[in-house]
Amino acid sequence: MSRTEHLSDRLLAWYDRHHRSLPWRVPPAARNAGARPDPYHVWLSEVMQQQTTVAAARSYFAAFTTRWPNVEALAAAALDEVLAAWAGLGYYARARNLHRCATAVAAAGGRFPDTEDGLRALPGIGPYTAAAIAAIAFDRPATVVDGNVERVMARLHAETAPLPEVKQRLRAHAAALTPAERPGDYAQGVMDLGATVCTPRRPACCLCPWRPACRGQAAGIAKTLPARAPKSAKPVRQGTAFLALDREGRVLTERRPPRGLLGGMLALPSTDWAETEPDPAPPFAADWRVAGEVRHTFTHFHLRLAVLWTRVGHLPGDVRPTEEAEAAMPTVFAKASRLGRTAAEAPMPRP
Ligand code: SF4
Repeated sequence: MSRTEHLSDRLLAWYDRHHRSLPWRVPPAARNAGARPDPYHVWLSEVMQQQTTVAAARSYFAAFTTRWPNVEALAAAALDEVLAAWAGLGYYARARNLHRCATAVAAAGGRFPDTEDGLRALPGIGPYTAAAIAAIAFDRPATVVDGNVERVMARLHAETAPLPEVKQRLRAHAAALTPAERPGDYAQGVMDLGATVCTPRRPACCLCPWRPACRGQAAGIAKTLPARAPKSAKPVRQGTAFLALDREGRVLTERRPPRGLLGGMLALPSTDWAETEPDPAPPFAADWRVAGEVRHTFTHFHLRLAVLWTRVGHLPGDVRPTEEAEAAMPTVFAKASRLGRTAAEAPMPRP
């Protein structure tokens, strides 16, 4: 038996005993008895886990699969319903792609392709997700590399070069270890090892099936790996959002342009968001008042969003009940709307 076969076998034996029980998984014993994971569940859970922790993904997964138990049901849902159910997970482009992907799979008879290439042709499925679905749902020997796997590979092989420079080497190590037998369980085993034993700050090496072979542990540098190139600070952008209410408490909304940040989402009218404060030109002339400021962090920048509010007799444009609009908006606009409403509902100061 080669060294890599030996390592794969040790990990599979560990996975059989210590795997995490997750609602989208089929446990190894059931899998060995012929049960297969539902590709819809695997796909949904993988997309969600790119956005959030496993704990949070559980509740989103339960909510999605209760409401849309199969890919055809999700495809038949209105995009706004899917976007609203996604609220809190960030990256709304992923939710739009989720819906587009469901539509494409439903149109093809409701069956996901069973190869990495076929999966990558679907909207929103990149190399990582394609490999994860191919391995976990279809037992293809695909190499699945997420942050957990990178950390384990860096430690196992004592790779001291920093990320992202060392990514390709870590992928090559992961590929070399991927077995032909049970690749789906193996992929989930490495993920579980990274999530529960080879954790970022305190790897529990005494519990690890790879300890005898681990070069990082032997060299006493495991905790420091993977090394990372220093991050540059996120820029701060500024902008203004406008909460316009009518006397029935309805709110003026607009649809963001289809491409770009929060593309296609329901939103409050807003200026552009830029590092130099844009001119806060409101959507129409009225008595605009200051409600306060919402702070929000996106992947690439921090946002300081001033909120102005007004109340008028007639609103020009797309008008909706406020709470319904907030439920369909991305978090930053829902926060701005709630802040504006609080200011609008506060008693006016006495002169
Ligand atoms: Fe990670 Fe320790 Fe296992 Fe090495 S021995 S893979 S550092 S948990």
